[in-house]
Amino acid sequence: MPVSIRPESFSLEEGFDPVRNQYNSTWILSKLLQEVPEEDCKILGVTSLDLFVPVLTFVFGEAQLQGKAAVVSSYRLRDELYGLPRNPERLRERLEKEAIHELAHTFGLVHCREPQCVMHSYTYAEEVDFKSKDFCSTCTVLLAQNKKQAAS
Ligand SMILES: [Zn+2]
Ligand SMILES: [Zn+2]
Repeated sequence: MPVSIRPESFSLEEGFDPVRNQYNSTWILSKLLQEVPEEDCKILGVTSLDLFVPVLTFVFGEAQLQGKAAVVSSYRLRDELYGLPRNPERLRERLEKEAIHELAHTFGLVHCREPQCVMHSYTYAEEVDFKSKDFCSTCTVLLAQNKKQAAS
């Protein structure tokens, strides 16, 4: 799919929760939706800020199920947050997996029990290393079906 990279076009200040010292990812999704051009199929926000949804301590990302917008953050995926040496290569891999995961939610995919499937939901950064960037056979079929539906 053709992809274009856009600079940040809105201030995240309003999405900041001073009590939690984190940014509300659902608020970011609503802002992304206002930004996305009509002709664009999906929009993925990429940030280094610490994200949350009210019921959870933190999230790696959030997406609208079968919607247009998704967001991912590198913040909780960085080894240095857990007292380990920086590992840019590992961070890139984790972020890539979470980006694929969140975008797949916008294509209607839900969480998968297959531990290596990219749609498996893990809580901790080091657990993300267990899964691959790929979809299991069930999710692959679902994704193909949903993409076809979205295109028609
Ligand atoms: Zn998910
Ligand atoms: Zn799966």
